[in-house]
Amino acid sequence: APGTDLYLPERTNSMGIDLFDVTELRDVWDQRKRPAKWHVGPILATDVQGGEAEPAYNPATGERIGTVTSASEADVEAATVNSSPWDASVEERSNVLKKAAKRYEEDFATLFALLATEAGKTLADSVAELREAVDFLRYYASEAKRLNTPARGIFTCISPWNFPLAIFTGQIAAALATGNGVLAKPAETTPAIADWAVRHLLAAGVPASALQLLPGDGDKVGKALTSSNKVNGVAFTGSTATARHIQRAMAENMAPGTPLIAETGGLNCMIVDSTALPEQAVRDIVASAFQSAGQRCSALRCLYVQEDVADTFQEMIIGAMNELQIGDPWEFSTDVGPVITQAAKDDICAYVATAEWEGRLIHRLSCPDKGNFVPPSLISVSGVLKLDREVFGPVLHIATFRARDLDKVINDVNSTGYGLTFGIHTRIDDRVQMVADRVEAGNIYTNRNQIGAIVGSQPFGGEGLSGTGPKAGGPHYLLRFVGKNISQCQS
Ligand code: GLU
Repeated sequence: APGTDLYLPERTNSMGIDLFDVTELRDVWDQRKRPAKWHVGPILATDVQGGEAEPAYNPATGERIGTVTSASEADVEAATVNSSPWDASVEERSNVLKKAAKRYEEDFATLFALLATEAGKTLADSVAELREAVDFLRYYASEAKRLNTPARGIFTCISPWNFPLAIFTGQIAAALATGNGVLAKPAETTPAIADWAVRHLLAAGVPASALQLLPGDGDKVGKALTSSNKVNGVAFTGSTATARHIQRAMAENMAPGTPLIAETGGLNCMIVDSTALPEQAVRDIVASAFQSAGQRCSALRCLYVQEDVADTFQEMIIGAMNELQIGDPWEFSTDVGPVITQAAKDDICAYVATAEWEGRLIHRLSCPDKGNFVPPSLISVSGVLKLDREVFGPVLHIATFRARDLDKVINDVNSTGYGLTFGIHTRIDDRVQMVADRVEAGNIYTNRNQIGAIVGSQPFGGEGLSGTGPKAGGPHYLLRFVGKNISQCQS
C-alpha cells in the first residue's frame, strides 16, 4: 500500500495472466507498437566509444529488427572506473525504483512489442514478464528499508535472454535498492529490452554513474566485468558451466569473499500418482513443459507417472499438446513461440532426432518451417532418467513407476545433482509431506504447475548445480548485496 513498508504484489499470479480480464488483455495487446528498426549500444556515465554494429533478428520471422553495438574494451574500462555506489538515502532509492515500476507499466505497449520481436515472447509470457519485473522493483524497494547495512560497492549483473526484462530488472533492482552501483551486461540476444529498462530506470532518477549498460559477448564483456578487482559482487543467471567460469575468474581477480549470486540450470521432475486429478494434472504438466517454449530453467523436463494411470495420462497429454497453437508471438492466439536462435533450434532438434532414432519419440507436433520453431515433443524414458544435460526447449520426457518404487523415483530425482523445481500431483497429504521432505529442490509445487514463481510469496532459486542461493524475490536475497554483518538486519 502506498506510504507503508508493506509489500503487496499487484495483480500478479503464477501464470501472469489469470488476474487480467481477457478483454482488457486484448486491448493491451492491440496497442503494441510495431517497433521501427532500432539501434542500441552501451549506456555509460561518460562518452561511449563502442565497437562494430551487429544486426539483430526476430526469432519468429528471421526479419532484421535492429542493430546492436557491443561495449568496447575502452567502454568497459570507462564504465568500471566511473561507476559509483548510489549515494542517496534508502527512502530516496526506494521511491525512484517505485517510480521506475510505474514507468514500466505505462510503457507496456513498446515493451510487449520488443518482447515479441526480440525475444519471441507470447502475450501470456509478456504480461508475466512485466508483472514480475515491476514486482521485483517494488519488493526490493520495500525490503531494502529493513536493512541498515552499507552497500558493498559495485555489482556486475549478468542476465539471461529467457527473462530479458524480469531477471535483468530483478538483479539490478536488488543491487540498486541496497545502494550499490551496477554494471549491467544483458544477454547477447536481448539488448533492446535491456536498453528499454535502463532508460526507464535512469529517467526515474537512478544516477548515471550507478547504472551503466554494457551489451556484448560473455567471452569479452562478461569476462572483463567478472575479472575486475573494482567489482565487489556479481549477480548471474544462466548456465551452470558459465557460473563455474565466473567463479574461477572472481577467485583469481577479486578480494576473497566477494559474493557470487548465481541462478543456474535445472533437470526438473514431477511425480504424478494414481490419485491425481487427471484434467488438472495434465493442464499443469503441459504448462510446465511447454509454456515459453520450454525455455525456463524451472520448466518440467521429466514426468514420472504411476504405471496404473500412465496410459490415460499419456493419451491426455497428447490431446492437450495437440491443442497448442505454435507460431508467431505477434499473434494473440499463439501459445508457443520460437526458441531464441537457430543454434538453439538445431541443438534441440538434434536431441529429439536422436530420441526418435532410438524409438523413444512418442509424439511431436508440427510447426512453421520458417523461423526458430521447435515442435513440442514427448519422449519416453525407461527406468532411471539419464539426462546428462538440460535440453532448453519444448521437450518433455515421460517415465512410469510402480507404487512400491516411489522411493527409487525420489532417489533418481535427487541423483541429477540439480535441485531447482519439483512438482507433485497427488491427493494423499502424507505423500506430499514425505516427498517434499526428501526431494532436494529449491521450489516444490503441489497440485499445480511448477513455473512462474511469484516475487514476495514464492522466492525462487535452487540448490546443488542449480545455484548458490539466496532465492530471488525472497527476504534473504538483499543480504548478499550489503555489508557482511547480517545481524544488523532488523526483522
Ligand atoms: N523464475 C522463473 C519461473 O519461476 C524461471 C526463471 C528462469 O528460467 O531463469 O518460472
